[in-house]
Amino acid sequence: MASNTANPANHLPYFFGNITREDAEEYLMQGGASDGLYLLRQSRNYLGGFALSLAHGRKVHHYTIERELSGSYAIAGGKSHASPAELIKYHSEEADGLICLLRKPFNRPPGIEPKTGPFEDLKENLIREYVKQTWNLQGHALEQAIISQKPQLEKLIATTAHEKMPWFHGRISREESEHRILIGSRNNGKFLIRERDRNGSYALCLLNDGKVLHYRIDRDKTGKLSIPDGKRFDTLWQLVEHYSYKPDGLLRVLTTPCPQLGSENDNFGFNAHPSPSGTLPKLQSTIGHPLEEAPFNPYVLQRKRGPTEEERGDQREALPMDTEVYESPYADPDEIKPKNVTLDRKLLTLEEGELGSGNFGTVKKGFYRMKKGAKPVAVKILKNESNDPAIKDELLREANVMQQLDNPYIVRMIGICEAEAWMLVMEMAELGPLNRFLQKNRHVTEKNITELVHQVSMGMKYLEENNFVHRDLAARNVLLVTQHYAKISDFGLSKALSADENYYKAQSHGKWPVKWYAPECMNFYKFSSKSDVWSFGVLMWEAFSYGQKPYKGMKGGEVAQMIERGERMERPEVCPTEVYSLMKLCWTYNVDDRPGFVAVELRLRNYYYDISH
Ligand code: AMP
Repeated sequence: MASNTANPANHLPYFFGNITREDAEEYLMQGGASDGLYLLRQSRNYLGGFALSLAHGRKVHHYTIERELSGSYAIAGGKSHASPAELIKYHSEEADGLICLLRKPFNRPPGIEPKTGPFEDLKENLIREYVKQTWNLQGHALEQAIISQKPQLEKLIATTAHEKMPWFHGRISREESEHRILIGSRNNGKFLIRERDRNGSYALCLLNDGKVLHYRIDRDKTGKLSIPDGKRFDTLWQLVEHYSYKPDGLLRVLTTPCPQLGSENDNFGFNAHPSPSGTLPKLQSTIGHPLEEAPFNPYVLQRKRGPTEEERGDQREALPMDTEVYESPYADPDEIKPKNVTLDRKLLTLEEGELGSGNFGTVKKGFYRMKKGAKPVAVKILKNESNDPAIKDELLREANVMQQLDNPYIVRMIGICEAEAWMLVMEMAELGPLNRFLQKNRHVTEKNITELVHQVSMGMKYLEENNFVHRDLAARNVLLVTQHYAKISDFGLSKALSADENYYKAQSHGKWPVKWYAPECMNFYKFSSKSDVWSFGVLMWEAFSYGQKPYKGMKGGEVAQMIERGERMERPEVCPTEVYSLMKLCWTYNVDDRPGFVAVELRLRNYYYDISH
């Protein structure tokens, strides 16, 4: 299991997970409630937070341990600690505000595991459904979105999951909420939550003896939600969870969510299945099959992309799935791929100015008219004056490789066009090459760079699976769509491997990017996914050096000698040690001992998830 899902307290014998305050008191009483006896449990109102229950004077005291934005833990107003375990250790030596020292842990009885919270159980399913329906993705595109964006998606789900709850009725008036609750069954505790304004204030509407009570739910300066003078929560679903098991100031506990009328029109399908209770675990039963059961929903089907910037309300940065280039334009069933991928010149317009150039010619920005509108494209245009057939062949070979690839982290070819010149029409990656972007943007964080190189490793894993070798993997050939979305490009040297060999053998030494090449490429002209892994190590070095040139000032031959001597480039200044050790692993001399992209991607994924928490 990836370490991202691990709870930082799961390994502690005195951690009980998501038990209630009353359960904690009962355990400590059972354990004798001697002064200083304690246990740790999951906070039920703060995401990622904990609660410490401590016996003293035959009473149990509870302290909230908040997870701070920096990722450290503290009892409100107290010292910060790197982990819950360190906080516990500290308070076993210093009371520092606690009623007494933590003297003795109360450990879980044999056979009792930490209780998982409703959110932990549901997270995976919620994320999947959310991505499926928000961006209308399935299959590979869906899996790749979840893998590359898990940390962002977890955050998104935590703050928007209530929208999918049967009890959440959105922006309706007070009168409308009363009307809805009074229709049908009138059992005590029937409830709904409505939105009062766009600033994150809500109202809880609760049926009590035939009358509807309205409780305000306000958001404080730190973003926490509460009923006046009530407990504070990070999310609405935690609030509902809490008041479903105890009234805690309300006239009664919440029992049945008020069903939504006309729920056929909801955007996600979840609301069509009011569960008998307002609590999350009940929702689980609807999660596996909301789509099959939900009535036809033209809104979801027509929508190709995720929310627009306006809809997102600028509250978050665009995810790869929000962009136009996450899926192939031909993934749209209305968009038919032209025969032989040759495009009609009349549908293509070119802009003045160049995006880049090379010895083949230039790359220009353009628009290609498709069924759903004009698509921004990058067009590689062959020089006309050089009637060198080799250059044209190279372009056609590149097109032939690109045509066979379809992955979110690889620049796709839209098609090829023969007109005033030979043109290769590709997806547009507006922010250009990674090395140049990082040279100009020194503020980009380590986490951001890790996110990008992880995406590159995902694209490379796809190439490896499909038996293609890139042979020119370098930071200059990674193009950025956004600051958080990278694509591999330039397949000019790439080869499809034959079924019986896992490497490509070059006939002779060519114009090679030798500083990116593994020893077996230089010595035996042998190219495999493993030699791409070597190049990927150099690419990571370039990225964490903010676009510096590798082996600066050295000639190709000198680099080869340095590698043969067993020396490697040093760790870039801001490069985390975990990433540097992965780089060095990519620079394993012997091909057979070098990891493949399956292993490299997984290492980067786990590291990326770890630092995102
Ligand atoms: P290439 O010869 O393929 O490396 O392309 C030369 C330059 O053109 C690159 O370094 C980019 O600046 C630009 N370029 C190439 N392909 C694209 C693309 N798909 N989107 C945006 N810019 C591109």
